[in-house]
Amino acid sequence: MALEEYRRKRDFKKTPEPAPGRVWAHAKKLSYLIQKHDATRLHYDFRLELDGVLLSWAVTRGPSLNPADKRLAVRTEDHPLAYGSFEGTIPKGEYGGGTVMLWDRGWWEPVGDPHEGLAKGHLSMILHGERLKGKWELVRMKGEGKRENWLLIKGRDEYAESGELPGEDAVSVKSGRSMEEIAGGRK
Ligand code: MN
Repeated sequence: MALEEYRRKRDFKKTPEPAPGRVWAHAKKLSYLIQKHDATRLHYDFRLELDGVLLSWAVTRGPSLNPADKRLAVRTEDHPLAYGSFEGTIPKGEYGGGTVMLWDRGWWEPVGDPHEGLAKGHLSMILHGERLKGKWELVRMKGEGKRENWLLIKGRDEYAESGELPGEDAVSVKSGRSMEEIAGGRK
C-alpha cells in the first residue's frame, strides 16, 4: 500500500491530520506508535514504520500483556511518517472523525526480514515503547474479504504480564493530556 488511499479519504483543508509530504530518510531506528482513536468505535491504531510509511492496524480492544490473548488487528491504509506525532481532534463528518491521543511511542526491531514476514502474514518484532516492550507478534488470519484481519499477540518474555497497561484513563505519552483535554483543545 502506498499513501493514495490515505490521501483519498481525507480533506486536508478540513482535518488537522498531516497531508502526505515528502518522505524523509528515516533514522536507523524504525518508529513504532499507538494512537488511541475515539472514532465511531473506539480503537487503538498500531503503527510500524517500514519503507518510509507507517504500516497500520486498528486494534479494537487495544493490546494485552497476556500472551494467551489474541487481539483482532484490522489492517488499515498506510499512513505518512508525520502522522506518528499527530494528536488532536478530527472534525465530525470527516474520515475518522474523533479524538486521537498518542498512547505509546518508541521504536521497533523486526525479527527476521519484515518484508517476508508481511508477505507470509507473520510479523515478529521487539517493541521499545514507553508502554509496550519486548516480543510481539502480528499474525494474519486466513480468509478472504476486503479487510485483512490480523491478531496482535504478546510474545512470552519478562514483559509478559509483568506489568499493567493503563486503562481507560490513560493519558498521552506526548502531552500528558487525557482524551477529554485533547478533545477540549487544552494545550
Ligand atoms: Mn483510527
